[in-house]
Parts: sequence; C-alpha cells; structure tokens
Amino acid sequence: MTKPTRIDPADLLAVGDLLSDEERLIRDTVRKFTEERIRPHLGDWFERGVFPARELAPELGALGLLGMHLDGYGCAGAGAVAYGVACMELEAADSGLRSFVSVQGSLAMRSIHAFGSEEQKQRWLPGMAAGELIGCFGLTEPDFGSDPANMRTRAVRKGGGNGDWVLSGSKMWITNGSIADVAVVWAQTEEGVRGFLVERGARGLTATDVHGKLSLRASVTSELSFDEVVLPADAVLPGVTGLRGPLSSLNEARYGILWGTVGAARDCYTAALDYAKSRIQFDRPIAGFQLTQQKLVEMMLEVEKAYLVALRIGRLKEQGAVRPPHISFGKLNNVRTALEIARSARTILGANGITTEYPVLRHANNLESVLTYEGTSEIHTLVLGEAITGESAYR
Ligand SMILES: Cc1cc2nc3c(=O)[nH]c(=O)nc-3n(C[C@H](O)[C@H](O)[C@H](O)COP(=O)(O)OP(=O)(O)OC[C@H]3O[C@@H](n4cnc5c(N)ncnc54)[C@H](O)[C@@H]3O)c2cc1C
Repeated sequence: MTKPTRIDPADLLAVGDLLSDEERLIRDTVRKFTEERIRPHLGDWFERGVFPARELAPELGALGLLGMHLDGYGCAGAGAVAYGVACMELEAADSGLRSFVSVQGSLAMRSIHAFGSEEQKQRWLPGMAAGELIGCFGLTEPDFGSDPANMRTRAVRKGGGNGDWVLSGSKMWITNGSIADVAVVWAQTEEGVRGFLVERGARGLTATDVHGKLSLRASVTSELSFDEVVLPADAVLPGVTGLRGPLSSLNEARYGILWGTVGAARDCYTAALDYAKSRIQFDRPIAGFQLTQQKLVEMMLEVEKAYLVALRIGRLKEQGAVRPPHISFGKLNNVRTALEIARSARTILGANGITTEYPVLRHANNLESVLTYEGTSEIHTLVLGEAITGESAYR
C-alpha cells in the first residue's frame, strides 16, 4: 500500500491510497469520461431539463458501468468498492447521471438478475449491460412512498390458474419511466407482492413525464399508468414473493448512493476551494479570510469522513458482512453531509453560486431528491433507531 507523499486538498487523508490499483483505475477512467463527455453539457441539460439517455447509455455500457457489480450476462462483475468509486465519480458530475446508472444496474438489472428466470435474464441483461436497452423500477405510487406495503397496483390471473396476468394501477416518480424498454413493476397479487416485467409499448401502459422539477432536472422522471395491461404468464419474476424483492434491490441502489454523494460533496468542496483562491475581495483572495477557511476546512473534514464511511461499508459488502443498518448509516450520513457541504459551498461562491456555470446549487438541488428517494432520511433514522434500540418506531 502506498503512503501519502503530498497533501492533496481534495483528499487530505489520502483515502484514495486505500483503494486497490484496479479500483483507482476505474475511478480515474470514470472521472476522465465525466470530465470530457458529461461535465461540459451539464449546465445546459439541467436548464433544459433533459438527459440524453439513448445517446449516453451505450457509452456507459462500453465502460462496463451498467450492472457493473453483477456477474455474467455481459456484466463486468466488479467488486463493491469498484462499483462504489464509479458511482462517486458519476455523481461528482451530476446526481442525475448516477441515478440513471443506479436505476439501470442496481434496481432494474439487479432485480432481473436476482429473481428472474434464465430466459428473462438472457432476454434482457446483455442488452441492458451494453446500454442498448433501458430499464426502470416501479415501486412508489402516487399515494404510497415510504410505505410500499400498502401499494394499490394489482396483478390478477386472467381466468385463474397459470394464465396471463392483468396489471392495473399506477407508479409515480419513476426514473427512466418514459424511456424504458422494460419496467420492473411491483404489484400486489393473491400470493403477495410480485415483480413483473412490462415491455415498452404494452397495451394499456401510459408513461407521462413529471415536469416542473427543481431537482434532478438532468434525469427522466415519469408516472406509469397500467390500465388492465395484459401480461403473459412468464412476465412475473419467479424468484421472489413479498417486499423482500424490491427492498433488497433498493438496498443495492442505496449502496451506490452512499458513494455517489461523496462525489457530489467533493465536487462542491473543490469548486468552492478553487473559487476562494481566485476571488479577490478587500484586496485579497477570499480564501485568506478566516471565516472562509473555516467553511472550507469543515467541508474537507466531512468529505473525508464520508469517504471513509463509504469505504468501510464497501469492504464489509465485499466480505458479505453488510446489513441494512450499515447501508442506512451510509445513506443517512453521506447524503446529509453532501447537502450541507453544497449549501456551504454555495455561500463561498456568492452570486456566482446560484448559476449553472458552477456546479454547487445544481448539486444542492439534486441532493434534495437524493435525500428523499431510496428511503427518506427519516426512514433511515428509523432503521438505525430500531437497530440500536430493538424498538420499531414506524407506526
Ligand atoms: C427524482 C426522484 C426519482 C425517483 N425515482 C424512483 C424510482 O425510480 N422508482 C421508485 O419506485 N420510486 C422513485 N422515487 C420515489 C421515492 O422513492 C419516494 O419519493 C420516497 O420513497 C418517499 O416517498 P414519498 O415521496 O411518497 O414521501 P412520503 O412517504 O409520503 O413521506 C413524506 C414525509 O413523511 C415522512 N414519513 C413517512 N413515514 C414516516 C414515519 N413512519 N415516520 C416518520 N416520518 C415519516 C417521510 O420521511 C417524508 O419526510 C423517486 C423520487 C424522486 C424525487
């Protein structure tokens, strides 16, 4: 293991030295891709509220980033930390980009990989890994977010027995919803909650994009409506019944978030640091004022702590020892940290901080969604509260 030889303001504790050569290579490759290919367009995409998924997906696929932590079926089979550092670099660019990769790989592909039949895996996973096919994951409904057990979307067997299914209901806030070739949709059945693969163009399926978002603007968010959509008997994911299915995939995606937000936080901190060194007020760089230094030092401390938290959880995951409260620890701490850093960085940039020319308010706005999706901060507090007290406080 290498020793830190110089002080790097972006990683003062040299946490990056704790990564393997392969993990560092992945980090640097993804960083280069985002800097060259993504960052120059982000302000524009955010302002226009677009994400060119069809164009980018094959490029992300070629880099091995889609379903990166899954084995076989064209997936890269990377370790947990390697996947984590990729998420960190993707979200250093924009949470919308990381969300696309998370939904594709950790929610849609992972659900098919873990619970699908061999035929379903062969049908979808190689194309999704290559970025030729796009997936989404529908759990949340207009009336049920934190409490998915009460979902209303329902699938019933037509004529009973082993016949076709008829799916009715709606899903809300679905990332990639209107652009997906396949939606993994969770619905109540007589047997309990089951997952269904709904193909683009299915009769009775309508996708409507959510407009007016002030957060995650460079990301497609949609409502999916199912008006008696007839699905073949083999559209169901055979490997799971019950909420364990969607919740286990959400745990995978949350793992990506606890890394991703380290990237968003670092990007805000380094943007503020660079700006503070060049912005002159009262005849000196604002970096020379104690109040500015205090803000920058607080940011730097918190970025490094969040990075260490992510790395610790990543290594636990690699050992097969990670449990949901570990993931909740990381998601709760690292999203909150990133949001606070983004807001503090915004103040250092003064008026420039409110524009899309700099990334900080874009990150801050994005992080409001990240705070809410994949389990709100309150729900993760309750997961941790139960883990340490043994008392469940959800209802
Ligand atoms: C941009 C974006 C993309 C998304 N993408 C997807 C997606 O791809 N697929 C998908 O299925 N969903 C997606 N979601 C939905 C997301 O997962 C939900 O928004 C989230 O689960 C919270 O649900 P809710 O918004 O209905 O809030 P609610 O559950 O109504 O919660 C409202 C408030 O009440 C609090 N609350 C609820 N219950 C309790 C309790 N027991 N104790 C204390 N406080 C409580 C919450 O913490 C929150 O503060 C996305 C959301 C956003 C914003």
